[in-house]
Amino acid sequence: MKLGFIGLGIMGKPMVRNLLKAGYEVITYDIIQENIDKAVSWGAVGASSPEDVAGKCQTIITMLPNSPHVKEVVCGEHGVLQGASEGTILIDMSSIAPIVSQEICKACLEKGVRMIDAPVSGGEPKAIDGTMAIMAGGDRAVFDEVYDTLMVLGGSVVYCGEIGAGNTTKLANQVIVALNIAAVSEAFALSTKAGVDPEKVFEAIKGGLAGSTVMNAKIPMIMERNFNPGFKVDLHIKDLNNALATGHGVGAYLPLTAGVMEILQNLHASGFGGDDHCSIARYYEKLAGVEIK
Ligand code: NAD
Repeated sequence: MKLGFIGLGIMGKPMVRNLLKAGYEVITYDIIQENIDKAVSWGAVGASSPEDVAGKCQTIITMLPNSPHVKEVVCGEHGVLQGASEGTILIDMSSIAPIVSQEICKACLEKGVRMIDAPVSGGEPKAIDGTMAIMAGGDRAVFDEVYDTLMVLGGSVVYCGEIGAGNTTKLANQVIVALNIAAVSEAFALSTKAGVDPEKVFEAIKGGLAGSTVMNAKIPMIMERNFNPGFKVDLHIKDLNNALATGHGVGAYLPLTAGVMEILQNLHASGFGGDDHCSIARYYEKLAGVEIK
C-alpha cells in the first residue's frame, strides 16, 4: 500500500523506517532535504511538496512540530489539500491544539478529505520500537480503516472520541509528564543536596509508589548528564501552551502546569530550548547548588 509521510524529525524518521519494514511504499517530504535523503536511503520515495505527496497517495501521515506547521502543510500553498483527491485520508500524528485539529478537519471535509488526529506518546525509543501509545480522534469509520497502519507504529491504539479528542488526550499526557519530571527533579535535588547518592535513591524507590515510567527514563539520563533530545524543552513549552489555552477555553484551571511552564521558559531563556525536557533537573540543580550525578 502507498502511504504519504510528511515531517521527518526525531519521531518521523523511525516511523517511516517501520512503515517501510512493514512493506508500505512511502512517499515522503520534509523542508530539510537531508531528512528526505535519509528516508530515501531506507527505500522511501522523495517528493517535492505536500501537494506532490497528496497527488501520489490516498493516505497521508503528518508528523510536524505544532499547529501552524500542520495548517501550512495541509491548507497552505502547495499543501496537501491542493494535491489531494476526494476520499483521501489524512492522519495527523503531530501534537497540536485540539481546536486547530477541528479547524483543519473542517477545511479537509470541504475538499472531500477525511481526517483523524492521532498523536503519540513514548518518545524516540518507542518510535524506533514501533510501540508508541497512540490516541486518536475523528470519525470512527475512518479510524477503523487506518487501524492496521497505526498498529505498525504503536503498541496500543485507542479511539478517544470526535476530532480533537486525540490531542486533548495528548495534552493530559503532556501535563502528567511535565509535572512528573519536575517532581522527580525536585525530589532528587533534595536528596542529593542532603548527601544521599542519587543512584541509591533511584534503586530504593523505583519499585514503590513513587516509581514511574518518567523516572525510569529520565533519572539515568540526568545522572549521566545526557541532555540530548529525546523530547525538546521547546516542544514541551508548545504542549503546555496548548494545555493552558485549552484549559482556559473550557474552564479547567492548571496551576501546577502554569508553574512548570515558568521553569521551562527559564530553561529556554538559558539556552536549553533544544535540549531534552529532563533539563528541568538543571533548574532545580541551580536553585540548590548541586548536581544530580
Ligand atoms: P522535530 O522538530 O524533530 O521534527 C519535526 C520535523 O518537521 C522536522 O524534520 C522539520 O523539518 C519538519 N517540518 C517542519 N515544518 C515543515 C513543513 N512546513 N513541511 C515539511 N516538514 C516540516 O519534532 P519531533 O520530535 O519529531 O516531534 C514531532 C511531533 O511529535 C511534535 O508535535 C511533538 O510534540 C510530537 N512528539 C514528539 C515526541 C518526542 O519525544 N520527540 C514524543 C511524542 C510526540
